[in-house]
Amino acid sequence: MTIEATLGASSSRDPGTASTKGSAGSSWLLCGGCNTMIYGRRFDRAARVCADCGWHAPLTADGRLEQLLDPGSRRDIDVLAIDGDPLGFVDSRPYPDRLRAARAATGLHDAALAVHGTIEGNPVVVVVMDFRFLGGSLGAAVGEVFTRGAEVALRERTPLITVTASGGARMQEGAIALMQMAKTSQALGQLDEAGILTVSIITDPTFGGVAASFATLADVIIAEPGARLGFAGRRVIEQTIRQVLPADFQTAEFLRTHGVVDIISPRRDLRPTLGRLLSVSSRRDDGIPRQPLRAGGAILTKIADLPERDSWESVRTARRLGRPSTLDYIDMILEDFTELRGDRMSADCPALVAGLGRLDGVPVAVIGTQKGHTADELRHRNFGMPTPSGYRKSARVMRLAAKLGLPVITLIDTAGAYPGMEAEEQAQAVAIAENLRLMASLAVPVVAVVTGEGGSGGALALAFADRVLMCENAVYSVISAEGCASILWKDPAAAPRAAAALRVNSRELLRLGIVDGVIPEPDGGADADPAAAASALRAALRICLAELTPLDQMTLVTRRRTRFRQFGVPTAAANATDSDSDTSTPSDAAGEHAAATDDQPGHEQSPHEQTVEAHR
Ligand SMILES: [Zn+2]
Repeated sequence: MTIEATLGASSSRDPGTASTKGSAGSSWLLCGGCNTMIYGRRFDRAARVCADCGWHAPLTADGRLEQLLDPGSRRDIDVLAIDGDPLGFVDSRPYPDRLRAARAATGLHDAALAVHGTIEGNPVVVVVMDFRFLGGSLGAAVGEVFTRGAEVALRERTPLITVTASGGARMQEGAIALMQMAKTSQALGQLDEAGILTVSIITDPTFGGVAASFATLADVIIAEPGARLGFAGRRVIEQTIRQVLPADFQTAEFLRTHGVVDIISPRRDLRPTLGRLLSVSSRRDDGIPRQPLRAGGAILTKIADLPERDSWESVRTARRLGRPSTLDYIDMILEDFTELRGDRMSADCPALVAGLGRLDGVPVAVIGTQKGHTADELRHRNFGMPTPSGYRKSARVMRLAAKLGLPVITLIDTAGAYPGMEAEEQAQAVAIAENLRLMASLAVPVVAVVTGEGGSGGALALAFADRVLMCENAVYSVISAEGCASILWKDPAAAPRAAAALRVNSRELLRLGIVDGVIPEPDGGADADPAAAASALRAALRICLAELTPLDQMTLVTRRRTRFRQFGVPTAAANATDSDSDTSTPSDAAGEHAAATDDQPGHEQSPHEQTVEAHR
């Protein structure tokens, strides 16, 4: 996509026209958003953001680095100066003349810079583009600057941050420019393989070849408010489809709704936002000290420790609106949480939240279904029932956790996956199935906690874990009691009987070995004292992570697969354990128990208590 095609007549907010009259700094200029006159010095002090309308004016590469990096931390990275005119290209002027003019006007060699620096003390490599230089177009020189920056980040194991502003590939370099998309994408792929965090900051505009390569391949995509990103430009699309596009088309806000952008960050918040993200990048070698995880707190693993309860009462308790939600727990137990949004495909599901943060200083990924406490919140969160894009967001964040070596914690409170027409059109079943397969081989510790309702496949899609826990008053079931009642009893009013028959409460599921342990709740339930409930959750997570984090990837994955392999095969498992004295793995313990409960109904030990109990 060319600069002309993407930007020509595309918007009243043409980023190229925010020029000042007179010398920089002391002059007056016209806001590109609201057309009011702004005094230059004041504008500069406000990071070149209009105080009236919030318009984010374009920045030069140097200006951006000055705002982003800790003062005095910038060290430029040497890049081979590419000065070619591979096609001998001439339009109204020879290409070399255009390059000379752009260099004279900007003081830059080309449209990008690569530097070392720090952001809130975290070492980073930053590649930043400058739209003034031939519309930030991607040619061989920009491709080389980016790739060199990525290679330095790889060699030094330093997170890579890119700031993009580009109309697309540089026409004057023909297919050589096109190849820069491949070259830069493969450089990011190598950073993925090496587990190095990459962050893309989208500024207005980011189009064509840059949008379809390094701008959107990063782990986390942050956009400035109003920034536009797309492959094809608005004018080209309007001409093709013969429709007028909505005003917010391709803006940061539009893209967040459609699952492309994680975070919209006003310029003044960029540094703290990046600081939080960088602090959870597990590969960092300095900065915030990490406390070692301590075993402690309590997980109930003895069935005798749990009172007999009416299953229907458990269902009703688990559904109480006052129970802490996933975001409540995140707020109470995590530090520096950054929510990540979107499936990078079509949407951002509000019923599923995911992100990175720290638990007792240890970086973790947290994924959970989100209900709400009020009718409005419930509606906004789709009643905690994820769409396929929710499960795809979850998968994206799990892959990121695996890349960065972060343990995954899932918090589950859902009646189930959303049953809707669009959900089926977007392949809900496939999204769930793919999550199960992904979790089966995720090479980092996974701890799942059913905090409220664990509804069917929509819950299991987050609960294929090394340790599966339940809050004391939670329920976990193959189908809702009402659903089971209407199918098998032909009477929804038979839900209490269905709940009892399905054995949905924590005591029953501990007995069945579906969960490894139960997290005690405060008197009156989690909603009676959310802080105490959160504290119990934190204690339980500490126990599990202390146990799991020392294990190597092969051991983790093998044990997790064995844990789920044995469900429903008591005889085979019993035979295996008969001849195998090693009962140290959860799966073996579960197998032994499965046989024991068949023969000895009075047995009062949970399947996994040997392993979990050791840490009580
Ligand atoms: Zn304005």
